[in-house]
Amino acid sequence: MDEVVSAERARYDFKKAMQEIVDIRGRGTELISLYIPQSKQIFEVMAYLRDEYSQSSNIKSKGTMKNVQGAIDSIMSRLKTFKSVPPNGIAIFCGEVPRAGDQTRMVQFVINPPEMITAFLYRCDSQFYLDPLKGMLLDKKSYGLIVIDRNECTLGLLTGSRIEPLKHFDSLIMGKHRQGGQSSVRFERLIEIAAHEYYKKVSDSVTDLFLDRPGMEGILVGGPGYTKDFFVKEGYLHHELQKIVIDTFDTGYTDEYGLKELVENAKDAILDIGLVKEKDLVQKLFSEIRKQDGGLSSYGEEEVRSALSMGAVDTLLISDGLGKRRIEVECDNGHRYEATVPEGRDEDIACRECGENTTILKNEDIVDDMFENAEMFNSRVEIISMDSEEGQMLLNAFGGIAAILRYKVA
Ligand code: ZN
Repeated sequence: MDEVVSAERARYDFKKAMQEIVDIRGRGTELISLYIPQSKQIFEVMAYLRDEYSQSSNIKSKGTMKNVQGAIDSIMSRLKTFKSVPPNGIAIFCGEVPRAGDQTRMVQFVINPPEMITAFLYRCDSQFYLDPLKGMLLDKKSYGLIVIDRNECTLGLLTGSRIEPLKHFDSLIMGKHRQGGQSSVRFERLIEIAAHEYYKKVSDSVTDLFLDRPGMEGILVGGPGYTKDFFVKEGYLHHELQKIVIDTFDTGYTDEYGLKELVENAKDAILDIGLVKEKDLVQKLFSEIRKQDGGLSSYGEEEVRSALSMGAVDTLLISDGLGKRRIEVECDNGHRYEATVPEGRDEDIACRECGENTTILKNEDIVDDMFENAEMFNSRVEIISMDSEEGQMLLNAFGGIAAILRYKVA
C-alpha cells in the first residue's frame, strides 16, 4: 500500500512541477536548465558549471550576467547536498524570474524524473528547456500480458505503447493420441498432470515477473480458446495478481504476435480503466453521501482533515483541479497558524489575528499536504481528474476534497 501511495504522489508531484515550470519566462537569456544522468559524477558537473560561470563574464548585459552567475551559484550549492546522482538522474531548473514591478526572484526546481535521464545537458535560455521530460508525462502504467493455450504461452509487458516480450513456454502436454499399450484412463490422467504442471510453471513466472513490479495497473489475458479462461478461473494466478486481471480477450496466436493482438483487442478496456476507476470511486462516495445519515462519507477540507487525523479515512479523493496551497505562517506578535489559500495568493500574508506581516514557515501544494496527512494512518489517496462528469462534480459540488470513511465519525 505504501508504494502505491508514493507512486501516486510522485506522479502528481512531477506533473504539477512541470505545469509550473513550463510557463516561466525570464527577462533575458538567463534561465538555466541542467540535466544530469546517473552516469555523471557530481564533481564533473561542478567543474562544468565553474567553466560556464567564468564564460558568462563575456555576457554583454550586466544584468543578465549577474543573473546567470547567480543561478549557477545557486545550482552549485544545491549540488553540494548530493553525494551521488540518483538512479534516474536529476534535472535542475534555476533562474531569476520577474515579479511585480522591477523585482525578480530566484526560482529553483529540482526534479527527480519518473524515467531515466540519458544525456547530460546544460542550456541557458529565456525559458526552461523541458523536452527531455515531456515524454515522461504520458501515462506510463504497465500491464502484464499473458497469451496462452494448451501448447504454448508467451508473457509480455505493455508500458505506454511499447510491448516487450518477456518469456515463452512450450507446454510439453502430450497430444490427445495415446500410444498403444497405455490405458486411456491412465493416459488422460497423465495429460491432466502435465497440464497442471504447465499452468503452475506459467503462473510462477507470472508472479516473478509482475508481482512486485512498480506501476503494474492490470493484467490482460488472451488466447484462442477456452484455456485462457480456465487459467484465470481455476485460480492459478497469485491472489494479488488475480485481483488486477482486467479481462480475457480472444486472440488467434499465443506467440509474440499474439501479444500484439491482445493489446489491440484490449485497447478500449485499457483506455477506460483509469477513468473508470476514478468514476467508480466518486460514485461510491456519492452513494454514501446520499444515505440519510451521510453514510461513510466526509467532504469539505476541514471535515476531511479532522477525519484524517482520527485515522477514519479509508480513501481520500482529491481533485487535481484544486489549485490551492497549504501554508503555515507566523507573525511578529507570535501568532502562528496554518491556512489554505488559492495558488498565487500565497505570499505577503497579513496575520489573521492582528494584521501584522507574517513569515511563511511552510508553503506547499495542498495535495502534498493531504498526502502527508493520509500517510500517517495509511489512508489511500486517489487523485481525481477533471476528465469525467464525476470529477467535475467532486470539485464543484464538494470542494474537491472528500473521503470514503472506514467508520462513521461524529
Ligand atoms: Zn499576528
